[in-house]
Amino acid sequence: MKQFFNKVSLLIHNFFKINNIFLSTICIFLTSYATVKVVEVRKGFNFSKEVLDNIKIGIIRNKPQVVVYSNSDFEFRDKDKKLICEGKAWDMWVLKVSGVGEVGKTIFYVAPASYTYEATATVIAESIKQTLGLPVIVLNEPPWYKVRVGEATTREEAQKIVDKLKAMGYDQAWIDKRTIQPKTKPKIQLIDPGKNVKGEYEDPIYFVPKSTFAYIGVAGKLYKGRFIVRIGVDGLLTVINEINIDEYLKGVLPKEIGANKHEEALKAQAVAARTETLSKLGRHSDEGFDLCATVCCQVYGGLSAETPRTNKAVEDTIGEVITIGDRLASAVYHACCGGYTEDASIVWGSGFEYLVPVACFEQGQNTEFQFPLNKEENFVKWVKSKPRAFCEDYTKFFRWEKRFTETQLASILAQKGYNVGRVLDIKLGERGPAGTLQSITIIGTEGQYTINSEYKIREALGGVMNFYSGKFIVEVEKDPNTKEKVWKFIGAGWGHGVGMCQYGAATAAAKYGWDYKKILKHYFPTTQVKKVY
Ligand SMILES: [Zn+2]
Ligand SMILES: [Zn+2]
Repeated sequence: MKQFFNKVSLLIHNFFKINNIFLSTICIFLTSYATVKVVEVRKGFNFSKEVLDNIKIGIIRNKPQVVVYSNSDFEFRDKDKKLICEGKAWDMWVLKVSGVGEVGKTIFYVAPASYTYEATATVIAESIKQTLGLPVIVLNEPPWYKVRVGEATTREEAQKIVDKLKAMGYDQAWIDKRTIQPKTKPKIQLIDPGKNVKGEYEDPIYFVPKSTFAYIGVAGKLYKGRFIVRIGVDGLLTVINEINIDEYLKGVLPKEIGANKHEEALKAQAVAARTETLSKLGRHSDEGFDLCATVCCQVYGGLSAETPRTNKAVEDTIGEVITIGDRLASAVYHACCGGYTEDASIVWGSGFEYLVPVACFEQGQNTEFQFPLNKEENFVKWVKSKPRAFCEDYTKFFRWEKRFTETQLASILAQKGYNVGRVLDIKLGERGPAGTLQSITIIGTEGQYTINSEYKIREALGGVMNFYSGKFIVEVEKDPNTKEKVWKFIGAGWGHGVGMCQYGAATAAAKYGWDYKKILKHYFPTTQVKKVY
């Protein structure tokens, strides 16, 4: 009976799933180098001047106190933007958490879907509750009735619920992180350079330089724009840099690609980073800002990171983004593709049909190889040779090898939660058209695991920062000295391999004279470069 109920509700779910297509914001989980990413794909391009001038970047979190200063005279303003007091250039003021308030709570709900009819949502909720035995609620957030499962306190815990829902047929299930704000928050104490307490204020406090061209400082780094200091969910200080989008991008480019690349590659990166910024606006809204300053969103170093060459690339492409139809494309990039970029669906599943595999070399090259690389023999030949590619000179990552003794491999896997004992065999699953593995099965003396997805495979084999890509083959050797069995991984590329190959883009510009539009059209072939402001 329960099974029947589940089947009926799945039918209802599939029927109403079409509703999701009309959601203006679709969240899909993406993997970047180090972390799980949520990318929001936005429809329409109505970015007002108000929005573009006030992008909020979370630069500091969880600090009991911070010191702020500016090269210009400045003002502190309260939550209603009323003047608290003025300060002189170079004076150091301290902002400090004062008193103890309640601490807020973060909940990771799992979202199977949203519906326009309450009755549908209720039926689905009841079926999931019966099948999984977890708490399920329906949130009425017009125009949607949102089904939310579980009350996980960590992302890992929530991911397990996602897997269970996917097994039930809710293949779009995703994690909806929510913050329950505390009822009473601590206040922010403002202390002047003479160590006198100026007062205690509710959050947020605004730190605004009087001159438009001034810079402001916190924690050893300089920024343009303004600071907003808030009390975070944890009861500690969060510092947000509120800044114009292009001034922000000037602090991103040197961190995301490096200033020494060819100017056309820098421009391509500027357009990609601008697209990613606008796509991700509001991603950290539960913390009071749009994007964070780490690899989770985009690495941002403020004015301290700026260089004249990267600044010029931002200015030369003002307002330009890449689009697909009437929405922003997901302008993802990676360091080195190993010669061929991957189909996004292989790495992240559905939702990115326009991120297709492309050759990272000139037409007419590599005729001695057979494509696509999902055929095992084609891939083995490819990964074991040095084909011609735009990114071939990135030698550390273009082709790489990792060797683990039996003992090392067993301990790496165990650390990641795969207790297989001594590894007897590693079976490689299906590959994508560029050779990325979709699954591997590890068979050991104490058990076996099948690991699905490029991200999880790299995590299992030592972490995404150490195990460079999902494009690899496995061989077995004997250590000549110890005679111990050695597992040898031979791989290609660095990163997820989808979208723009950064090293390839730089070489295409420097050696082959490609401009940034040709670079973007090559790596994102179905998209357009569009000026949206
Ligand atoms: Zn982030
Ligand atoms: Zn490449």
